[in-house]
This record gives sequence, structure tokens and C-alpha cells, in this order.
Amino acid sequence: MDEEGRRCPLCNGWMQETEEELVWECSHCRTAARFEGEELLALKIPNYHLRLEELGKENAELLSLIEAESGKGAGRDMRALRSLHMERQRVLSEYSFMSYFQQFVDRW
Ligand SMILES: [Zn+2]
Repeated sequence: MDEEGRRCPLCNGWMQETEEELVWECSHCRTAARFEGEELLALKIPNYHLRLEELGKENAELLSLIEAESGKGAGRDMRALRSLHMERQRVLSEYSFMSYFQQFVDRW
């Protein structure tokens, strides 16, 4: 394996070795990762819990906007609804992507 070529699990940016043994840091998003051989053991993601919280709030807001628009019945704006649904899809997919890393964040 190429020790020089580690990629960030989060953003795929290049990671550099730090002073601390087995700890690498992403030069792009500043995520720190601890590896054992090829295996990812733990992650320290900057503002991780804050980001999850923000995404949760965005989702709740979008849901209430969608409900309000849908509630207009025949007078609802289909284009607005569609773009709200698309935005919510984006928020949910980032949420599930970020949530996947929870197990590694917990192990830091
Ligand atoms: Zn990164």
C-alpha cells in the first residue's frame, strides 16, 4: 500500500501524516483519521455534531414548507413543491452520508 496516498473518507481530499502516530489529517476539510493498516478506525470531523443538527433543522423546516404548500390543495404551486422536495432530498442524503460516520466519530 502507498503510505503517501491516503484519501479522506469524507471528501476524498489528500491526507497528510501528523505528528501523532497513525493519525492523518485531510488538507481539504481538516478531518483527522486514525488508521490501522488500510482499515479506518476513528474520525474527528470538524463541527460534526453541529452539521448534523443543522441538517436536522433544515429537514424540519422543509417538511413544514412542503406541508403548508400541499395544504393549499388545488391552488398549490407544483414547481415550488418540486423544488422543495429536491432540496429536502439533498438535505436527507447529506444527513445519511454524515450519519454513516457516526460510528467512527464515536471511536475517536
Ligand atoms: Zn476531507
